Amino acid sequence: MLQPNPFARLIGPLRYACERGFARLPTVRNLRAPLEQALSEAKLQGLASGILAPLKRELRNIDHPKSELRQAALQRVLKSIAELGVELPEELAGASTRAVASEFGAAEHAVPEPEAAARARILSIAPATGPLAKPLKDIGWRLNPRLVGALKRKGLHRAGDVLFLLPRCYEDRRQVQRIAQLRPGERGVVLGTVKAAGEIPIRNRRRYFKAVIADASGSIAATYFQSSPWLKERFPLGKQVILSGEVRASRVGREMPHPEVEPADDATPSSVHFNRIVPIYPGFERHEQRSFRALAHRIAELYASTIEEPLPESLRRKLGLVSLSDALRWIHFPIETEDLGALNSHQSAAHRRLAFDELFFLQLGVFIRRHGVKIQPGIAFNIGPEVLRKATVALPFELTAAQARVVREICRDMGKPEPMNRLLQGDVGSGKTAVAMLAAAIALQNGYQVALMAPTEILAEQHAQTMGRLLKPLGFRPGLVTAGAAPREKRAVREAVAKGDVRLAVGTHALIEAGVRFSNLGLVIIDEQHRFGVIQRHALMSKGVRPDVLVMTATPIPRTLAMTLYGDLEVSVIDELPPGRAPIVTRVFIEKQRPRVYEAMAHELRKGGQCYVVHPLVEESEKVDLTDATQGAEQLQSLFPEHRVGLLHGRLKQEEKDAVMRDFRDRKIHILVCTTVVEVGLDVPNASVMVIEGAERFGLSQLHQLRGRVGRGSAASHCFLVAGYAKSKDAADRLSVMEQSSDGFVIAERDLELRGPGEFLGTRQSGLPELAVANLARDAALLSLAREEAREIIGGDPSLSRQEHRGLAKALEERWEGRLALARVG
Ligand code: ADP
Ligand code: MG
Repeated sequence: MLQPNPFARLIGPLRYACERGFARLPTVRNLRAPLEQALSEAKLQGLASGILAPLKRELRNIDHPKSELRQAALQRVLKSIAELGVELPEELAGASTRAVASEFGAAEHAVPEPEAAARARILSIAPATGPLAKPLKDIGWRLNPRLVGALKRKGLHRAGDVLFLLPRCYEDRRQVQRIAQLRPGERGVVLGTVKAAGEIPIRNRRRYFKAVIADASGSIAATYFQSSPWLKERFPLGKQVILSGEVRASRVGREMPHPEVEPADDATPSSVHFNRIVPIYPGFERHEQRSFRALAHRIAELYASTIEEPLPESLRRKLGLVSLSDALRWIHFPIETEDLGALNSHQSAAHRRLAFDELFFLQLGVFIRRHGVKIQPGIAFNIGPEVLRKATVALPFELTAAQARVVREICRDMGKPEPMNRLLQGDVGSGKTAVAMLAAAIALQNGYQVALMAPTEILAEQHAQTMGRLLKPLGFRPGLVTAGAAPREKRAVREAVAKGDVRLAVGTHALIEAGVRFSNLGLVIIDEQHRFGVIQRHALMSKGVRPDVLVMTATPIPRTLAMTLYGDLEVSVIDELPPGRAPIVTRVFIEKQRPRVYEAMAHELRKGGQCYVVHPLVEESEKVDLTDATQGAEQLQSLFPEHRVGLLHGRLKQEEKDAVMRDFRDRKIHILVCTTVVEVGLDVPNASVMVIEGAERFGLSQLHQLRGRVGRGSAASHCFLVAGYAKSKDAADRLSVMEQSSDGFVIAERDLELRGPGEFLGTRQSGLPELAVANLARDAALLSLAREEAREIIGGDPSLSRQEHRGLAKALEERWEGRLALARVG
């Protein structure tokens, strides 16, 4: 029996999207998920990636915000799945034939897929000199002409490029099985002779391909549900081939659907391709694997040993790490006794060594930079009991245990002569401002100035108010430094700050303008750190003489990531909410259930509550999303005529945004429809409902952040996640995490696991170096180890000048050259 065609499941969604001349297209979202699922199923069935490539390309476009591009993508998908044997219903068959015309127009907009090979490098840069820089054409190896094209396509030109290409997975060919031993449901590898091969017609003028392979013990069929000329080539009658794949039982005997196949005429015991665990490389078609594998073997044999060992012998021994050259050899051709599971989960000894290197050199760079900061003296604040008592006296509440712990950590830093460099993480509403206020109170009592920078005017105002209230008993009044104030006022505040009359300056980016000077800035506090870059942080710091720095973020970043990303910062965490918070009840709804969301909103509005309605924002397409939000606002206004609906989005000027937010805060607006620009940290305790549209398009951490804007008062709050059309199982599972957990860190860990660090942080802004082997979600222990070792080494030899550290210095330079300085640290 043939497998069910995984692409058949797309018919339903596609029909919905394409019917009536694509009239519904504007409302269709998330076709990516079902396509993704079909693709992964097809892959499981063993369908070659070359066949799937055209469909895979469409993953990028099928949910494209521009309707024309989405439509063109749909048409191409229809065409491709028809070619893969899916019978299209009449109306869809029509849609697919129009594909050619629009394909032309769409091509230039189509977003190219990132090169798999480029992402799979082990090391970011192969050395520019030495043996590894040798062009592949000069290594004394006749390159198979077909392979030459593939190498070019993947951008692999030098010996080092091949050596540093990490295999995608491994296949166990230590023991070729007898065909009779194969068990349905398991993967197997067999060697046999091609007895028959050919196309078999099925209904609708389609054909599939079937070949029969036999050894002395029995026979098995290799089946492909799409015939193509190269298959015939791959199964030459009477020749030996090696098949690997999952075995299925069918009515007529056993079969391997879409097995991987290689010629086996050289199946000698010493062959590169047999009697061992063989590597499978990313970005190469199956028929290219064999010649690439031979090349990789040659290069591993010749060049792995030319790599200098950067790690000191003592460190390697202590941690039980294999040598770099062994690791590079074994990553391609594992030793006989290696565990296949460990290899395929990238946790073999060779993987561990390479992962350690990635993390270790990253941390080494971080500590070198940090050491540079630390050796220069900063301010040692007096943190005596009287100072502390005075600082806390104005607090209207008891600190939570977590706040108290963090305050102790901050005090310890502030008391030391080296500059504090601390990241304070805490869920929205966990009370970071109170902690910041205490730090400010200490610095102020010491006679220093304090600068507090927030991402928006309204947040700055909010902070100025809170701080003003709390610090009043100590006799300090904040000055507000923003861009929006009247010119005369602005000048007056600036002068007062420069003279030192204003000791606490609260403001926006305006604080870092050249015109703002301090007389003795001692403490810099940055709220919502992720909104600012390193440069801004440094710009503000440079207005003092090595002031202490406290940065705060509500984006809960898993520890592993924080260490990598903010490696030069110490991290404090508030992991507890102040008492008396009503929990936020979160529910996921699908499109059909929307009326229930409106009912709940109506209920809250009647009670005098306020609602946020958030629409997703894809940066590239602000216009489209704006349409969503604008239409959403209009619709809500007609549904709730007696309430005022406001609209907030990224295209408004800052003053306009601030005005809308003020109206919302002052309850002049009851329903605030916004794109994700809605400002973080806004404290509107009366807002009790958060509706998130297209929730499947958000990362979990982002959802959690958004959700944190309600539940700030004592009334019970609600968060409704409205998942777009065609909510996939994956999306549903993902969103259900939100229903189950209200712990930002748990959610962040899940998010990191599900999406990987690049997506988690938004690749562009993360500045996170690509890690090819190490996995931040998995290798937390290895990262800690790398961090400790790096800390110790830099602590004892900050310039890496000792003999045993020469290798480190050299490798560090080679690997992170240039990028080390750029890697974002906060
Ligand atoms: P964050 O900046 O971490 O999101 P805030 O500092 O704005 O949180 O605090 C949220 C709310 O909780 C504020 O209204 C604040 O007054 C209150 N709060 C903070 N700490 C405590 C505490 N220990 N006990 C009671 N309420 C607190
Ligand atoms: Mg805050």
